[in-house]
Amino acid sequence: MVKSKPVYAFEEADSKNRMLLGGKGAGLSEMTRLKLPVPPGFTITTEVCNKYYDNGKKLPKDVMPLVMKNIMNMERKTGKKWNSTKNPLLVSVRSGAAISMPGMMDTILNLGLNEKTVEGFAKQTNNPRFSWDSYRRFIQLFGKVVFGVNDEKFDNVLEAAKKKQGVKDDSKLNVKSLKNIVSEYKKICEKHTKRKFPDMPNEQLGLAIEAVFKSWMGERAVVYRRQNKITKDIANGTAVNVVTMVFGNMGDDSATGVVFTRSGHDGKRELEGEYLTNAQGEDVVAGVRTGKEIVELKKEMPQSYKELSKACMKLEKYFKEVQDMEFTIEQGKFYLLQTRNAKLAAESYVKTSVDMVKEKLIDKNRALTRIPPEQLEALLHKTIDESKIKKFKQFAKGIAASPGSASGIAVFDVKKAIELGEAGKKVILIRKETKPEDVPAFFPSQGILTSQGGKTSHAAIVSRGMGKSCIVGCTELQIDEKHNRCKANGITVKEKDSITINGTTGDVFLGNVPLIKPKKTKDFKTILSWAEKTKKIGVRANADTPIMAKLAREYGAKGIGLCRTERMFNEKDRIKIFVQMIMAKSLKERKKILEKLQKLQKSDFIGILKAMEGYKVTIRLLDPPLHEFLPDPYDSQKNKDKKNKQLLERARELAEINPMMGHRGVRVAITHPEIYRMQIKAVFEATAYLAKSKVDARPQIMIPQVGSVEELNHIKNIYNEVKDEMEKKFKRKFKINFGTMLEVVRACLTSDELADTAEFFSFGTNDLTQGVYSFSREDVEGKFLGKYMDEGIVEISPFQSIDESGVGNLMKIGIERGRKKQKDLEIGICGEHGGDPNSIKFCHSANVSYVSASPYRIPTAILAGAQAVIAKRNAKKSK
Ligand code: PEP
Ligand code: MG
Repeated sequence: MVKSKPVYAFEEADSKNRMLLGGKGAGLSEMTRLKLPVPPGFTITTEVCNKYYDNGKKLPKDVMPLVMKNIMNMERKTGKKWNSTKNPLLVSVRSGAAISMPGMMDTILNLGLNEKTVEGFAKQTNNPRFSWDSYRRFIQLFGKVVFGVNDEKFDNVLEAAKKKQGVKDDSKLNVKSLKNIVSEYKKICEKHTKRKFPDMPNEQLGLAIEAVFKSWMGERAVVYRRQNKITKDIANGTAVNVVTMVFGNMGDDSATGVVFTRSGHDGKRELEGEYLTNAQGEDVVAGVRTGKEIVELKKEMPQSYKELSKACMKLEKYFKEVQDMEFTIEQGKFYLLQTRNAKLAAESYVKTSVDMVKEKLIDKNRALTRIPPEQLEALLHKTIDESKIKKFKQFAKGIAASPGSASGIAVFDVKKAIELGEAGKKVILIRKETKPEDVPAFFPSQGILTSQGGKTSHAAIVSRGMGKSCIVGCTELQIDEKHNRCKANGITVKEKDSITINGTTGDVFLGNVPLIKPKKTKDFKTILSWAEKTKKIGVRANADTPIMAKLAREYGAKGIGLCRTERMFNEKDRIKIFVQMIMAKSLKERKKILEKLQKLQKSDFIGILKAMEGYKVTIRLLDPPLHEFLPDPYDSQKNKDKKNKQLLERARELAEINPMMGHRGVRVAITHPEIYRMQIKAVFEATAYLAKSKVDARPQIMIPQVGSVEELNHIKNIYNEVKDEMEKKFKRKFKINFGTMLEVVRACLTSDELADTAEFFSFGTNDLTQGVYSFSREDVEGKFLGKYMDEGIVEISPFQSIDESGVGNLMKIGIERGRKKQKDLEIGICGEHGGDPNSIKFCHSANVSYVSASPYRIPTAILAGAQAVIAKRNAKKSK
């Protein structure tokens, strides 16, 4: 391997080694190699940054001599001179890690100015005002970045100078005032550091390089890396780029701007961006002044526009990716200062992928891998109009639980939400947490916001299943249900106040933020069809209603991997009957009520099986504990009403300390076999009914919370009895598979035994994660997981992405032992991880048969499945 050098002139390097040169250095080098107009400069590598830290924050000895050699190189190329009183070379010193961390690290401009060179610069530019202004900006930036002087001190001096000269605008300050400001600025720095302000450009440069390296470990940068999961294998240290200064603020023939080679939001093949005349680059990035549309440059500076367009085409062709670039025009001369792969909105990713394949710029594999799969979901929901968001105040932030955005009036009471929603009002239901009895209010609501719970809480799962935007675990929200209001960050939201929730990010805003309707374009369908052909893993849906089943099928699901039957009792007409069943005093009475429920379930199954005709539909029998269907026994309002006495007594009787690990799933079926018997019967009856009209229904029955084969066999006996009964009744044979979830740790460990009875498995990774970590799935995300992530103890919530070394390993054991008994055993996954791209990659490699995800995540799952295949293929090739 070639040993890397500490410093590379732009013409010596290329864009291949981003880890070493950082994104900016790599881009500048490649543009230089491509003979594009880049101001001369060089990059000090990320390796030097790491050595700087290993060395106790000292630059390695060989670095500054190499830096000076490169400065001489720049002198030759530019015809300017370092520390010259006639024609001084000035530089910018810019950070740049392997991955972009916008605004998180430091940059210094106009370096090389001092009392003498400023005069030379004035001659060179023929503009003393401009050169003294550049000097005062340099001292301010240098003082702030290198010495840590508070910006406010400089601002006070500037304000006083404007007052003294009687002007309002910085640009009206004359040379005399600017000279005074420079002198005052220096005094501030000298008082702060107790040393003379460094005048020699060599010293300035050394200090500036060190300051940029220091900013890598600055608090802002460290927090940003943690929050964005930028680990050392993604970016290890920052590089420093020293670039000849070019000025976009040298008059009306100068400008600076940013441009995308294609539209970042809809992907159209046209330049998109903005620029400012007579401004510095930072003014555009910081959005201080409103920029002009890039097309105007065509009229204003046609030659530069031509050069820009040519450069855009060349770079896109070279990088085979949409580029995001920065440019500066100095007195009519065009320069490029940065290029990188652009971050695009979902619609743009999809369109540019299809277009670039048509243009033969990329192949289909590249088209599929460049799209972040989770972004596809954004195309199926309403989203916030980002261009309008600045006008709205953020109210709170919670856990993004179900994507898409919704706005409406805040309602805290379930009954009222139903009333107002059904009367046509747009409602956002706000609760501490939700229970099945609250679900009728989900239907007429636009979105759900809860102050408690995590990604697998009741509110999260039900919302996702319905495609409603939802935020959970918004712990800063104090809800006062009694007075119908909530408070966060000192702001109170009362009933009927307008709010907007963004279930993709977890942000809550005050007011009605304008929303953009979803767009399922032809290109979207094209991408999905390419992905469908590439992927190997099956993709099914978690769907509990015929509407959701239809939707899932439309999005490309081939079957239902999880139909949570308890969700069917959520509907208004069922919940009452279900509660009657729980309250029944005798078995006889209960059975009678169950007959009523059986009819309703049968009709639901008919709808779902029909919608998924020809594909397997996995019907999971009742899972949650019975008390979940009853009101909160300690609800003071309900306790006041005598009518509720019996109901609350029963709720108290059934209440558990730890219900998620309590009397649920198969355990309820063993104590109340009549419930599962009713459900199994309903499945058979629905199948028989559909067979009459020649509908190819393929249900399979799945048992939740199983931990031992004895439990499973107990239910299998009931299944067999019902099957016999049904075969006699309908005078025909049925083939309805009987399987189990693997969501209890013991089930994974004994999957060989379970495979003697089960005809299929499905991992319930929500409960499995809860069991493996001993983390309550309802609570951790709102309680301590955030801190765990901040501290780097956990990188990503294990309820979002499979914890491969814990849960993943257990899954592998479950698969291996199960398939030892049945070689071709169908093993799926139906926890929320089934729609998470990283988890899908893991499932593909672990030979999971299919993933099951909520309908809106089907396209994401299909694309992630294709990406898993391509990644494996590429890894094999590179071996
Ligand atoms: C699971 O536990 O992963 C699962 C799918 O079941 P539920 O979320 O309904 O408990
Ligand atoms: Mg479960």
